[in-house]
Amino acid sequence: MKPVLEVQGIRKRFGGITAVDGVSFEVHEGEILGIIGPNGCGKSTLFNCILGQLQPTEGEVKVDGRVTTGMRACDLNRLGVSRTFQLLQVFPQLSVRENLILAGQEHKGTMLSRLFGAPDAGLGAAADQMIGFFKLGHLANERAGGLSYGQQKLLDAAMAFMGGPRLVLLDEPAGGVNLTMLANLKERLRAINVEQGATFVVIEHNMDFVMSLCTRVLVLAEGKVLAEGAPAIVRSNPKVIEAYLGH
Ligand code: ADP
Ligand code: MG
Repeated sequence: MKPVLEVQGIRKRFGGITAVDGVSFEVHEGEILGIIGPNGCGKSTLFNCILGQLQPTEGEVKVDGRVTTGMRACDLNRLGVSRTFQLLQVFPQLSVRENLILAGQEHKGTMLSRLFGAPDAGLGAAADQMIGFFKLGHLANERAGGLSYGQQKLLDAAMAFMGGPRLVLLDEPAGGVNLTMLANLKERLRAINVEQGATFVVIEHNMDFVMSLCTRVLVLAEGKVLAEGAPAIVRSNPKVIEAYLGH
């Protein structure tokens, strides 16, 4: 079966720093690939190179076999690719529901539909469905800025799923989220994975989260792939243990 995502030899230099140093991997339909590694090892930069926020110095990205290197986020959205950022991207002044509608518009992506479409751009029903799915019903009309950090992270994740993407890249979705919220997030991601066959790549520091959610794990260290494989095997790899204990 053809991979959904192919990353080949991605390298990214910032001046004298090589943040990502020749990373290659593939992700297949329905997989949940975890990416772990010490702070500053290039995880977010790798995502940014895959998703068009940054132009890689070298390397190629393919989605469904088609070269997408450097393609803009809105064009990737049309191919069914979506993401969350390490730092929250919710609009604090807007309600939960309005944030979801806006995210849906981003993913549909035409200025004309924003200017001349229905006030909810026909996305109200989809937003309500997402609110139900992520169990945010009691918060639907609250200002996003008034929610707890964990609730905002959950909303941020929900926003990435507006438009029914097939491939979602999540950058530290569990960072700073309490245990209850974490369990909720994990359960929701698993449900979307199973029910919609969605494919995920998840950057995460929380080892338990990664080990219990992911089907395969890629370990980065200093911009390079240090190890790759099933969670249990990666976890007991001496090189991986050393990279973690070393920081
Ligand atoms: P991670 O997400 O694994 O913590 P990052 O990808 O954020 O790591 O950073 C990898 C390295 O690249 C770090 O040394 C960081 O300082 C550097 N870096 C990231 N973004 C930039 C940038 N825009 N300009 C210069 N250096 C950057
Ligand atoms: Mg990061």
